Amino acid sequence: GLSVNESWRQVGDALDTVLEKADKYIDETKRARNSLVNEQSLQYLDDAANSKVSSTRKRITKPQLAFATPVDNSETGPFKPLLSTKPHALKSLQDSLVLIPAEEGVPEHYGNPYEYEILNQEYNTSLLEKSEPIPSKDWTSTKGLWVDSVTTLRAMIESLKVQTEIAVDLEHHSLRSYYAINCLMQISTREQDYLVDTIALRDSLQELNQVFCNPTITKVLHGAFMDIIWLQRDLGLYVVGLFDTYHASRALGFPKHGLAYLLETFAHFKTSKKYQLADWRVRPLTDPLLAYARSDTHFLLNIFDQLKNKLIEAGKMSEVLYESRGVARRRFEYNKYRPKVMSGNVYCTEERATPWKSLMNNYNIPYELEPLVISLFEWRDAVARREDESPAFVMPNQTLVTLVSAKPVDAAGVLSVSSVVPDYVRTNAKALANVVKSALKLISSGASANKSFSMEPSSLSEMSNVVSRETVEYFSTLFASLKKNEDSEMCKVPSAQNVFDGSSKFFGNSEFWNNGFVSYELTKRVLANEKDKEDRKSEMY
Ligand code: AMP
Ligand code: MN
Ligand code: ZN
Repeated sequence: GLSVNESWRQVGDALDTVLEKADKYIDETKRARNSLVNEQSLQYLDDAANSKVSSTRKRITKPQLAFATPVDNSETGPFKPLLSTKPHALKSLQDSLVLIPAEEGVPEHYGNPYEYEILNQEYNTSLLEKSEPIPSKDWTSTKGLWVDSVTTLRAMIESLKVQTEIAVDLEHHSLRSYYAINCLMQISTREQDYLVDTIALRDSLQELNQVFCNPTITKVLHGAFMDIIWLQRDLGLYVVGLFDTYHASRALGFPKHGLAYLLETFAHFKTSKKYQLADWRVRPLTDPLLAYARSDTHFLLNIFDQLKNKLIEAGKMSEVLYESRGVARRRFEYNKYRPKVMSGNVYCTEERATPWKSLMNNYNIPYELEPLVISLFEWRDAVARREDESPAFVMPNQTLVTLVSAKPVDAAGVLSVSSVVPDYVRTNAKALANVVKSALKLISSGASANKSFSMEPSSLSEMSNVVSRETVEYFSTLFASLKKNEDSEMCKVPSAQNVFDGSSKFFGNSEFWNNGFVSYELTKRVLANEKDKEDRKSEMY
């Protein structure tokens, strides 16, 4: 039957649907009442007529094909910062771009080249003085300025240089690229909203470091922990002088920490989440998308003014700036050079050493089939890197699990595992059948996953030496799966969670429980930490 895990997921999904509907009706009722009683109280992102997200999934030419610097996912060395000049440096560019030798659990890598400045530059002293909040410009009578040429970019930079603070946000696309791509950057000053085409200007945006790394210009972002990664990965941009309103929200103990709450409470603006996962690669961006994007930064400086006063009153400003610097110093790293110890300072798309383990647990895949699962993971990863696609687009987990279950050894078998077969699986049916065949041969020859099996030596040795890590992974996956359904966006592959009938691995996996290393205390601590982490992530948006 269903695993405990999966049952919970379904309960969670059902609850989500109910809550979403309830939210919608409450909104509609409020809106109807507002328009009758008090026109002033809330402004809405959507005027009712205009509120449909275009659901036509039109095929977009991959923007990567036109990048001046082709995407290279081969990872022959650690990620090298794109930085080519270093404005506002305390430490020279040359001294900032050095390889840091491998140390305990952390492979050789380049540090964040602005780390020294991030940790040592003073913030603008205006952050320490209360001031009268400056009202945002009227929402309906202003428009964003589209920036997609070097000329308009330079004009924008000139107007940014004279600001005391600017608001910044990014929109991002991850389905059709291995490491994903920045699509849009929103910047607001007190006077003007800018919408920067980060696809068109991908190789020209480093000039913005003149502003982004100037500590006297405060950069206000909400929940910047990913923006910081995306900026350095694609654009060679860093932030010195970050003020993260998410950390302000936490320090002030607000009931919710998303931007939507701040917008509603401090700007009386009701946003809509439905655009968040839009395909931000489309050009031209539609009016609703442009409006959504602009609203992410338009009100943020006024909100910042109000939060600043509250933080000074509460004596919590230094705490927020400390947390913000911690966000700004994060660094992007390639998966192959992922630290073996969890670190909040480093971000890789693949956070786990043994990603297939959690999948096996989620879907109750028998332990003996691990070599097959690993082979399919590796095939998927190799194709995704080569074609610059996300692994989820090449082969959603559901499809992978269906293949593990059906074990097709010829192309026809691969094509018939489900009614809708993802493009890459269909066009590579033969190759996949061969992958399955060799893995099965390996399994029947008696190679066991924790001994002689040699698919990926580094990961496999890691796998056997740290038991607590496995515990962490197991439970973090459990929690993650309660909140989100992996690979939701792609192909409608029939659900495959029941293909491995039989005993639930949740309580029945003896490897997991009887190894003598897992103490209850440890498990409890891990649970609390991991749950907190997940909560933080999901509430931030
Ligand atoms: P935001 O800061 O809310 O504008 O989000 C920035 C980007 O993060 C979006 O363009 C999405 O690519 C991604 N994102 C936001 N919310 C979610 C979410 N709930 N799940 C996955 N990705 C998200
Ligand atoms: Mn954001
Ligand atoms: Zn945004």
